Amino acid sequence: MPEVLYRKYRPKTFKEVVGQKPIKLTLQNEIASGNAAHAYLFVGPRGTGKTTLARLFARSLNCLNRKDVESEPCNTCDVCEQIISGRFMDVMEIDAASNTGVDNVRENIIASSQVPPFKKGGYKIFVIDEVHMLSKSAFNALLKTLEEPPKHIIFILATTEIHKVPETIISRCQRFDFKKIPQVDIVKRMTEIIEWENVTVPDHILSEIARRSEGCLRDAESLLGQVISLSQGKVTDELASLVLPTSNWQDIDVLVEALRVHNLSTALNQINKLVGEGIDLQSFNLDLIDYLRQILLYQSIGPSYTLDFPEDLIDSIKKHAQEFPLADLSHFLNIILDKLTIKETLIEQLPLELACVEFLLDQKPLEPAEDKPVEVPTSAEKKTEKNLGTNDIIKSLQANWSKIIDQTKAFNHSLSALLQIAHPVSVSNDIITIGVEFDFSLQQMEKPNVKNYLTKVLSDALGQTIKVNINIDQNYSENHQTFKGKNDKEVGDILDTFGGEVV
Ligand SMILES: [Zn+2]
Repeated sequence: MPEVLYRKYRPKTFKEVVGQKPIKLTLQNEIASGNAAHAYLFVGPRGTGKTTLARLFARSLNCLNRKDVESEPCNTCDVCEQIISGRFMDVMEIDAASNTGVDNVRENIIASSQVPPFKKGGYKIFVIDEVHMLSKSAFNALLKTLEEPPKHIIFILATTEIHKVPETIISRCQRFDFKKIPQVDIVKRMTEIIEWENVTVPDHILSEIARRSEGCLRDAESLLGQVISLSQGKVTDELASLVLPTSNWQDIDVLVEALRVHNLSTALNQINKLVGEGIDLQSFNLDLIDYLRQILLYQSIGPSYTLDFPEDLIDSIKKHAQEFPLADLSHFLNIILDKLTIKETLIEQLPLELACVEFLLDQKPLEPAEDKPVEVPTSAEKKTEKNLGTNDIIKSLQANWSKIIDQTKAFNHSLSALLQIAHPVSVSNDIITIGVEFDFSLQQMEKPNVKNYLTKVLSDALGQTIKVNINIDQNYSENHQTFKGKNDKEVGDILDTFGGEVV
């Protein structure tokens, strides 16, 4: 059953193939210009389209209706139909995992090369899947053929383990490296399939399937097929949970919360409780990493970052994004990736994302060259002043407000504009309340990345760690008089300039 969807919707044209764009373009170009090579090597993880493209390539080259400059097969002529159903004599698929003997390779090739191709100017094509499984003597026989390739014979060798293929073979092939299919493309393909199947599947379940399949489209389609087969036109969370081995996100959340508040005892207790209950630790680890990454991305990118999760999970992620320090998130993700040594197999871009976070985290925003640096208390002053009293904080902010506005310019001009029409209202328990006049200001400044940056700037300016709270100030006009920034522009100007959007 799992393979049904995969076979049913196997792409019939290059256009339909998901991902692998550069490979598709090159192959199509070679077909259209009549410059096919004698041997190809398709390298890459399973389920990424190697066999699909090999068959398409073979079909297109031998299609009776294809014109010279075209590259897509017609899929309706006798040859196309026979290749689709696996009955065409000139296209032979050999699974090296089951036919490892030298005889099989040699006999097939020799026997076949005696007979000219069915189509005049067509090709005899051997697709050897899992070619790394061939025996040494089979490789030698293959090599001999590759050294003096008979006219009109094309080899397409496919492998998931290139390091097991002899260099002598590799060097005689045109090599293509297949990439894992990006999650977004997998989701797009599944969206097409459920439309054809006339089934409703919530977006977050499609995302979950894409995540589970780790770049393997075949796995995704298998999982989707299983989920659909249980439903009658509508897939629910409950039905999906029978097929998808989802983690209990609440269990993960307990651990994440313990990490956030630096509570080692709760963290270790939670891990041991879950292991005692028999969870699949590997899948738990992957989900934990994904969860932390979502928090990090939401915190850094803000509401424009789409979270494809169930509602309650989205709420938890947003809550953590407000509270979990970016430095801690990045630090923990680095440690867990190191300890688990799963850097490469997981989320391809995660190490790069962490590198960006780490690099930029401690960097001061770049100052425009002509501006003087903000005069914040010196480190000596910081040490002696430690925690300022409420009055001192307000005084210090009042004195430095225009400099703070200037400093934020380097990070984001629209934030600095927003601060010009905002001011500190009160301080209590290290929480500084910033008063604004408009809902617009409130929404923009509540964005996690904007708010985090503002918190950092104010903490730096005061020499102590503070939190920021943003509110509509009912006495705005009166209170704002004292805190006006030096570039006191008209509000209308500011909103116009930035089109009402802070990134
Ligand atoms: Zn055809």
